[in-house]
Amino acid sequence: MSRLILFPKDPLLQLPLEPLLELLLQQQVVESLLDGHYGERSYLLGERFFDAFLFLGCSPSIELAPTAADTPFCYLELESEVQCRLISGSNLKAACKGCKQRYGELPQLEAQQPPDVSCCHCGAVYSAEQIAWRKTAALAKTRFSLWNIFEGEAVPSDQLLGMLQKQSGVEWSYAYINS
Ligand SMILES: [Zn+2]
Repeated sequence: MSRLILFPKDPLLQLPLEPLLELLLQQQVVESLLDGHYGERSYLLGERFFDAFLFLGCSPSIELAPTAADTPFCYLELESEVQCRLISGSNLKAACKGCKQRYGELPQLEAQQPPDVSCCHCGAVYSAEQIAWRKTAALAKTRFSLWNIFEGEAVPSDQLLGMLQKQSGVEWSYAYINS
């Protein structure tokens, strides 16, 4: 599955989810809780979702609600945890700072601090915080995902990033992950 994931630039910041959800509801980015099949905190997208995310194709054809045929649809999942987690997938574009070769697919790593990543080519170890992830990995405790959005298909609007920053006190970033 592919997703667009948004997260605070401070990887050790664990935000309470209620104020974040409040903001997304108020801005009509999300509308209501989906059933547990999609995760504990997954939401149906709201009327103003297309103001919060800009689609780059000429006519985005994405489903915004579950269909009888069970086709993939776009929904938002909120997550917050004590551990700092590095999430990446098959589209990872980051390279090792030591040997400059691209990392292969990495496991999901989690730790109290930003986890260490070791290179499968040269064995060099760097903290995940030191690596340029090129928008293909998320390093965070708190994050939200838009599921079934393809790499480069949509970007968060400046307005949304500004609101998230104002609400949380830190800048936000985003990445695309195919898992
Ligand atoms: Zn290396």
